[in-house]
Amino acid sequence: MAGQRIKRIGSDRTGKASGTTNGLKQTMANYPLIGAHMSIAGGLSNALLRGQELGCRTIQIFTKNNNQWKAKGLTSKEARRFLDHQMETGISPVLGHTGYLINLASPEKDVYSMSRDSMLVELKRAEMLGLPYLVMHPGSHVGSGEGQGIQRVIDSLDWLHDRTRGYEVKILLETTAGQGTSIGYRFEHLAQIIEGTEESQRLGVCLDTCHIFAAGYDIRTRRAYDATFVGFEKVVGLSRLMAIHANDSMKPLASHVDRHQHIGQGEIGLEAFRLLMKDERWNHVPKILETPKEGGNEKDIQNLHVLRTLLKGRPGSRRCESSLTGIRNF
Ligand SMILES: [Zn+2]
Ligand SMILES: [Zn+2]
Repeated sequence: MAGQRIKRIGSDRTGKASGTTNGLKQTMANYPLIGAHMSIAGGLSNALLRGQELGCRTIQIFTKNNNQWKAKGLTSKEARRFLDHQMETGISPVLGHTGYLINLASPEKDVYSMSRDSMLVELKRAEMLGLPYLVMHPGSHVGSGEGQGIQRVIDSLDWLHDRTRGYEVKILLETTAGQGTSIGYRFEHLAQIIEGTEESQRLGVCLDTCHIFAAGYDIRTRRAYDATFVGFEKVVGLSRLMAIHANDSMKPLASHVDRHQHIGQGEIGLEAFRLLMKDERWNHVPKILETPKEGGNEKDIQNLHVLRTLLKGRPGSRRCESSLTGIRNF
């Protein structure tokens, strides 16, 4: 059953309605396209129920245990159940995020080959679940140099695309903080990978606000925000931006340290997220929280509330400030 796509009714997998036959709940259509990474504990479809409980319009999941190379094969029954739950909850799109062991830039032969195999499994699972996007960190060159690391990623993407002919799921390269020897902390790295890959139309980018900030791209003021996205447009192209991870940062600008913080509670601050939420260019781009869970749903609910409030009012205005009281208690 590997890689077999189960037919869905109505909307396409990116969440855009396909005419009047859209089977997903129409009431969701007016909500901002925000959500959070959800646990798949107890089964993949549970993530959708958890997302519904929190009021997510979109969610992100790991398609398998994120700390293991292998996974038990996904059955068509499980995939069907997932799609049924998706239809019931109206949550769309659902993004996949690859496991943490995968490193397509690794100079170590074993890691490199296991990474390719594991990525192939992830793509098959994502395709069966009808996910439009699978978010992947480009990887770490482990001292072999950025150029070589980038080339290994390009070779791997060609290898993967060759083996997944006809798949609709797109791999999204995630921006990174540049911690250790990881690549992807410059927009140029992503552009090089995209340009070097034969079937580049099957690739997109996921921009993580915490990661780009830690990498040195400022977004804290209107001016800085605009400059960062002008840079992104020039180097990568805005049409490649298919997902956003909305995370504040515990660490300062250009620290190259990846530590996520609650929205408005870190070094980035509320203004950047107000600009992001009000930027109409991203209305149809899913914005996913990966902020600390701290053991329950409460933090996700609060962070989602902050994002919604920013969309309504301007920080500094009385209306907005009053509805944001309490967020300092995160
Ligand atoms: Zn990530
Ligand atoms: Zn992220």
